Amino acid sequence: MQHPENDESYKGLKVNKGITDVPIVNPYLKGRVQRKQYTPAEYVEAILKGDITILSQAVTLVESALHEHQVVAQEIIEKCLPYAGQSVRIGITGVPGAGKSTSIDVFGMHLLRQGHKLAVLAIDPSSERTKGSILGDKTRMEELSRQKNAFIRPSPSAGSLGGVARKTREIIVLCEAAGFDTLFVETVGVGQSETAVHSMVDFFLLIQLAGTGDELQGIKRGIMEMADGIIINKADGDNIDKAKLAASQFRNALHLFPAAESGWTPQVLTYSGYYNLGIKEIWDMVEIYTRYTKGNGFFARKRNEQAKYWMYESINESLRDSFYHNPAVESLLATAEQQVLNNEVSSFIAAKRMMDVFLDNLKE
Ligand code: GDP
Repeated sequence: MQHPENDESYKGLKVNKGITDVPIVNPYLKGRVQRKQYTPAEYVEAILKGDITILSQAVTLVESALHEHQVVAQEIIEKCLPYAGQSVRIGITGVPGAGKSTSIDVFGMHLLRQGHKLAVLAIDPSSERTKGSILGDKTRMEELSRQKNAFIRPSPSAGSLGGVARKTREIIVLCEAAGFDTLFVETVGVGQSETAVHSMVDFFLLIQLAGTGDELQGIKRGIMEMADGIIINKADGDNIDKAKLAASQFRNALHLFPAAESGWTPQVLTYSGYYNLGIKEIWDMVEIYTRYTKGNGFFARKRNEQAKYWMYESINESLRDSFYHNPAVESLLATAEQQVLNNEVSSFIAAKRMMDVFLDNLKE
C-alpha cells in the first residue's frame, strides 16, 4: 500500500518504525553460560592469589566422585602443597545444641578483627544419610558468612567417614594455599568423627554445657583425653555458677588422666557465645598453646605423625575403593553375602573367596 509519508515531498507527521523485541536472553551472556574449564595450573595461580570463587570450584572438584574431577583435583592439591601448612588448625566439637555455630560465629569475628583469615570446614558423616550437611552451614554463622575474609564450607557429603575426612584434609591444603591462616574443623561430639578431626588439627577444642546433670558421664573419656581445651558455654544469667562448678569438675577429672605428650595441661574455661563473654581468653589459650608446642617441638612432630597417618588412611581408602569397584567382586559380592546370611558359608571363608576373586582379577 502506498503511504503518503513515504513520498519524499511529504512534510507532515511521520510514524517511526517500531523497534523489534529485545531477546529475553542477553546474547552476550551466551558464551558465559558454560563454566570456563581451567587447567590445574590456572586453578593454582588463582588460589594463590586468594580468589575465593576459584577456591570454591577447586573444593567442589576435591569433593566430586567423578574420576576426571579427581585427576584434576589431585594435581591442584599437589601444586598447592608447597604453599600449605602455615595455618593454625583448630578442631571444634560438641554435642548438638552445645552452641557450636553460635560460638564459631563469635570466635570467627574475634579472629577477623585481629586481622586473621578464617576457613570453617566440617566433618559430618551423618550427612551421607541425610543428604545434606548441617555442620558448616553458612546460615548457622550469620555474621561470619557475610565477611570476605571468612570461607565457610559444609562437610563433604559423599562416602564413608574415612573418605569424608580425607577430602577435608585435602581441602585444608587448598584453603591454606589461598592464604587462610586459621582453620576451624567442626564436628558433632558423638561417634567416630572426633578422632578423624583430631588427626588433622593442632588444637582440639571441646565445647561443653553445664547444668545438664551429666557433665562427666555424658562424654566419652576418649574425647576428653583428646581435648587441649574444654570450654563450657552458656555461662550467662542463672547459669554462671553451674558453669563454674562444671569447670572445676572437669579440672578435677583431667587430673586423673596421664600427662599429655605435648607437655600441655588442658585448660578449662567458661564463656558465653551468645553474650560474647570470655571469648578473648579462649583465643589467648590457643595462642599460648601454639607458642608453647612450637617451642618444644611438639607442634611439628604432631603434624609429621598426622602426615604419616593420612598416608596410611589414603592407602586404606584406595584399597577399599578398588576392591569394591572391582567388576569381578561387584558381580559376586551379593551372592557371597546371601550365603553367609543362609549359614551356608562362614564369614571368613566368604571373605577369603572374595579376596581371591579380587586378586585373581587384578592379575588378568
Ligand atoms: P550447635 O547445635 O552446637 O551448633 O548449637 P547452636 O549454636 O545452634 O546453639 C543451640 C542453642 O543454644 C541456640 O538456641 C543458641 O541461641 C543457644 N546458645 C548458644 N550459645 C549460647 C550462650 O552462650 N548462652 C545461651 N544462653 N544460649 C546459647
